[in-house]
Amino acid sequence: MTEGVKSFENHTPTATRHANSSPKKTCGPITVKSVLPTRSHVTEPMRHGRILLAGDAAHIVPPTGAKGLNLATGDVIILARALTHLKQTGSTQLLDAYSETCLERVWRAEHFSYFMTTTPHPDPDQSAFDTRLQLSQLARIASSRSAAAELAQNYVGVPIPGRPPGSRTGCRRRW
Ligand SMILES: Cc1cc2nc3c(=O)[nH]c(=O)nc-3n(C[C@H](O)[C@H](O)[C@H](O)COP(=O)(O)OP(=O)(O)OC[C@H]3O[C@@H](n4cnc5c(N)ncnc54)[C@H](O)[C@@H]3O)c2cc1C
Repeated sequence: MTEGVKSFENHTPTATRHANSSPKKTCGPITVKSVLPTRSHVTEPMRHGRILLAGDAAHIVPPTGAKGLNLATGDVIILARALTHLKQTGSTQLLDAYSETCLERVWRAEHFSYFMTTTPHPDPDQSAFDTRLQLSQLARIASSRSAAAELAQNYVGVPIPGRPPGSRTGCRRRW
């Protein structure tokens, strides 16, 4: 871990590397450097009685899929709709479905983030067989329209379910 951080010492910030290009950029000091440990974790269900989990408190994805904040925002939108529905109608239907509704998106993102970690990045301990599998999969994505579409759909993410019928609140567009 320490060696990984030290390897940043000679890292030249982008602003310096492009100092000769215009417009001129101001380069500030890098004050904190660390190697980020990536991990995957899901706490389920995301509800225990009156305690409801959302975002990183409930699930962690490696940053390779750029999904963490998107999942957190999705959780909060789903939870806000459920609480509004409860207040407006007295029904706990959406609140009772909160965990299951979120987890469908969460597990898809977990799988995609795992894929985006393990497929384009070699593990130093992996075998030649593993490397060939990776290259085969990457070649498949590069050459097949349907494989590329599958990757693109996962990048966009699972849509947040629509707002409850009769509700006046909620997000107007489908994500
Ligand atoms: C390097 C990196 C790159 C990333 N890139 C992306 C990306 O490209 N796209 C993407 O979607 N996501 C990305 N993420 C993930 C994203 O940042 C997180 O998933 C997201 O911020 C989670 O939001 P959250 O509200 O659940 O938690 P947080 O943003 O961590 O918010 C939790 C808040 O609670 C506060 N807090 C903690 N303990 C207490 C306490 N005891 N009392 C009061 N307050 C407390 C914290 O200070 C913090 O403000 C990235 C993460 C990292 C580390």
